[in-house]
Amino acid sequence: MNLDFYSNLAKQAVNGDSLESSIAERILTDRNIEILPLLNAAYEVRKTYHGKEVAIHILNNAANGYCPEDCNYCAQSKNSKADIEEYGLKTDDEILTEAKAAYDNGAFRYCMVFAGRGPSERRVEKMCDLIGQIKEKYPPLEICVSAGLMDESATQKLKDAGLDRLNHNLNTTESNYEKICTTHTWQDRVDTLNAANKVGLEVCSGMIVGMGEPAQDIIEVALKLRELEAKSIPINFLLPIEGTPIDPAKNLSPEFCLRVLCLFRFLNPKAEIRAAAGREYHLRSMEVMALYPANSIFLQGYLNTKGNTDLKTLQMIQDAGFEIKSDVPIEKIISESQNRPKEIPQLNPARKDSTIYSDLKSIDELRPNLAKGSTAKT
Ligand code: SF4
Repeated sequence: MNLDFYSNLAKQAVNGDSLESSIAERILTDRNIEILPLLNAAYEVRKTYHGKEVAIHILNNAANGYCPEDCNYCAQSKNSKADIEEYGLKTDDEILTEAKAAYDNGAFRYCMVFAGRGPSERRVEKMCDLIGQIKEKYPPLEICVSAGLMDESATQKLKDAGLDRLNHNLNTTESNYEKICTTHTWQDRVDTLNAANKVGLEVCSGMIVGMGEPAQDIIEVALKLRELEAKSIPINFLLPIEGTPIDPAKNLSPEFCLRVLCLFRFLNPKAEIRAAAGREYHLRSMEVMALYPANSIFLQGYLNTKGNTDLKTLQMIQDAGFEIKSDVPIEKIISESQNRPKEIPQLNPARKDSTIYSDLKSIDELRPNLAKGSTAKT
């Protein structure tokens, strides 16, 4: 391909134009479209809207497991036999201490995740109270909540409490949805996103790539999120978790994952595109290249699986010449991280290549501030 092809991709995206479907498909599948100029074109778009900033997100499983839904990729689903640490809602003290730690670690956004089909009225009130407390103590910290299906009255309450953003991932296409979940529908998910949009909450919604979907489905999800005007799009690459019913993804090469990130950047040029779960596992030695199309990543791993250590991730950002979107300087966070007596190991360096499953987080990682004497299984 000549260089005009790549620069036209960038120009079209910055002009707000969509891609022809044949071009979108070729970005994912045609090896004649080379990865370096493709990344460079996506980077031009990223730079236009986000400069060299990386928005760091830190997840907090405010409640973990015991979910009655059957999403077959999820370690917390009713059909999962994954050996995760299940617990009910953390205490306010735990959540507020974790919010402070996230802020001190350079997090731009603090994401509270509540497993389950959707929140009860009582849970909505509790979330509102927590949002108010975090906003009062750490006003610059943006808050995102992920709590399952919600109607407009629930999203309005969260908005009134000060919530910035609501996460609810589409995960896949409507036609593929019943293969991965039978207890709710894809449309239920879209309805929740519409309820968030309607009350003025920013919408965060993404995909899990690697659940057997054809390239066309990846394009379809990217276009649906464009239509929903998602401000934030986490692109997850399926992490194989022992005990979940889904077949682990076998076809995700680092290069393909980068192509997916570029495609989402071209089709959603202004969105915060996050190289989310599976970044370390599937991108491997190409991990840093994700920062060219994507402008956001998670620190401290994922819901129940480990990621790289804080130090390794922050060093990667700094080494590549990017900056973090935080009022705490990256140098300070790196130096404090280096001086910590012992950072909790994240990815297990002893994991053999023949072990395909991801390492699960321990209770110390999930609940670092669990009061002594408390039980995890609350
Ligand atoms: S609803 Fe959420 S927590 Fe429950 S199984 Fe599905 S993805 Fe997992």
